[in-house]
Amino acid sequence: MANEKTMFEKYRTEKCLCPNCKKDYIIPFKAKADKAHSFYCPKCNYEVHQAPAINID
Ligand SMILES: [Zn+2]
Repeated sequence: MANEKTMFEKYRTEKCLCPNCKKDYIIPFKAKADKAHSFYCPKCNYEVHQAPAINID
């Protein structure tokens, strides 16, 4: 889970190549990058979704 969070921080703050086709950049889906929880690749339509943060005490 920590890795996923780091991954999304990267998507939000820098251009990241699509891990699927590696030919285009992952871009935020219907949101500004700093708020986006979904990103997609316009080249191959690969999608990534961040699960909502759940804190368990
Ligand atoms: Zn792609």
